[in-house]
Amino acid sequence: MTFKEKLQKLVNAYGVSGDEFRVAEIAAEILKPYVDKVEIDKLGNVVGYKSCGKPGAKKLMLDAHLDQIGFLVTDITKEGFLRFMAMGVDPRMLLGSELNVIPKNGEPIYGIVCSTPPHLQKPGDSAKSVPIDQMLLDVGMPYEQVIEKIEVGDYIAFANDALDLLGDCMSGKSMDDRACFMTIIHALELLGDSEFDCDLIIVGSTKEEVGGHGAMARAYIDKPDYAIAIDVGHAKTADSTPMDRTQEFGGGPIIGFGANSIPKFARKAVEIARAKEIPYQVEAIPAASGTNAWSMQIVEDGISTLVVSLPLRYMHSPVEMLTLSDVYNVGKLLCEFIKSFDGQL
Ligand SMILES: [Zn+2]
Repeated sequence: MTFKEKLQKLVNAYGVSGDEFRVAEIAAEILKPYVDKVEIDKLGNVVGYKSCGKPGAKKLMLDAHLDQIGFLVTDITKEGFLRFMAMGVDPRMLLGSELNVIPKNGEPIYGIVCSTPPHLQKPGDSAKSVPIDQMLLDVGMPYEQVIEKIEVGDYIAFANDALDLLGDCMSGKSMDDRACFMTIIHALELLGDSEFDCDLIIVGSTKEEVGGHGAMARAYIDKPDYAIAIDVGHAKTADSTPMDRTQEFGGGPIIGFGANSIPKFARKAVEIARAKEIPYQVEAIPAASGTNAWSMQIVEDGISTLVVSLPLRYMHSPVEMLTLSDVYNVGKLLCEFIKSFDGQL
């Protein structure tokens, strides 16, 4: 598989927060050739270890989350429609969306979020957004058939596959944050057999969208000295304003500065980006970064954390969009960091 095919396979896999074992299997297969050992833990986290072979080496964790935004079935109506609740999804975009129910056993079941045709709407309806608890999913089957296949508590995810766009761009339902997992893969590809001075712990973590428990558990178990959370950041879109604090799409890795992305660590990343002529941008993150760095920083006696973000348009939608040059440049920065970091800030 090419790099792009691996990215597509990972993005197309299902793994809504709390139900990540399917995507974890795929991520573990992709990671395996680049590390000494891979395992999937009881939370569904994928963990790979790559030793530098030097006694007393510090431990550097690279984390990207594998879970995706999605929904849970909350009720099945007597007419066979599904009610659902969302995790991390903007409900305004949902009417008419194509979703897949992921039953505990069996293949995904395709469904469409019901919408009222314009002809049947009441005056003013088209200007209103519909609350999610009033939406229904139509899986095309009568009640008796639905209850044979689907249960309350089943997960639901966006159904669409990743798409290639012109201009080196791709879009997909869970670029957040699987594209960042692929930036780590790219870093390891580039690293090859080069010498480095830290033991690496690669984590494809779970449950980030609902609280970051996966990364927190791994930080507790693996006790890294340093951890980099690689996650998506908001890239400029057509309607962005300077007040939106968005970053350049295609501008390279975004290096965070703030309490959760500590300046000493961030400055080191900036120095390396400059020295290696990797395009980069900086972002001020005064408090919580909204990434796994927040979950990992206060584990045990504290971990030095850094946030590196990949520019992404339309975050938390079924069509999250990136440019591959950013994916490669984030990978390149991570690789150069690994190669030059001696374990001291
Ligand atoms: Zn994310």
